[in-house]
Amino acid sequence: MPASPLFIFDLDNTLYPRGLPIWRMVDDRIELYVMQRLGVDAESARSVRMEYLADYGSTLRGLMRHHGVLPEEYLEYVHDVPISGIVQARPELKEMLAGLPGKRVVFTNGSLDYANRVLAALGVADMMEEIFGIEFMEYNAKPSLYPYEKLLKATGAVAKDSLFCDDSRRNLLPAYEMGIFTVQVGESVDPPKALLMKAPPPSFRPHAVIGDICDLPDVLHAFPPLAKA
Ligand SMILES: [Mg+2]
Repeated sequence: MPASPLFIFDLDNTLYPRGLPIWRMVDDRIELYVMQRLGVDAESARSVRMEYLADYGSTLRGLMRHHGVLPEEYLEYVHDVPISGIVQARPELKEMLAGLPGKRVVFTNGSLDYANRVLAALGVADMMEEIFGIEFMEYNAKPSLYPYEKLLKATGAVAKDSLFCDDSRRNLLPAYEMGIFTVQVGESVDPPKALLMKAPPPSFRPHAVIGDICDLPDVLHAFPPLAKA
């Protein structure tokens, strides 16, 4: 009897369509936070963020290291966006998740509280067994390898029995290299600030590409644990 598969979901621009501006609003608030905290203009704030992202894996870790920023304060500030006015319930998503034969978890660079609020707005909070947010990652955001390994350890899952959905090719690459089945959701649009970090080679192809997360069942025949069944 093989272990039950693990389905791992990114949150932003994966469980809801990229057209919603919510993650952009968080991104804007990160920029605002850096501007206010460091007393710099937008351009300098952007270059500081790029530097911290490249050196420490997240803006937050750089701010903690060099400016004594408290993670709780930062996370509350940057995630203070009007989710319920923007994100609507997706009954079709709930139905799709309910049909998956395995454990479902969320793996997001956002905070735990933010993830809970987005999942509640989508109407799928009760479909996820666990949420692994930026606090779990110890602020080492995807695509740093650390949180991927920590997630597998925490869930007791084996890479080859796990599937990971993310809109970012950059975030899919470490999972692919670990042997996790990778599904790209929608078009991968990496933000300009990520350009300084190692980009996946153009030859990198995730195992499957779908237009919307609700199309996941269409590609499950290629996911080895289900293909064997
Ligand atoms: Mg995303």
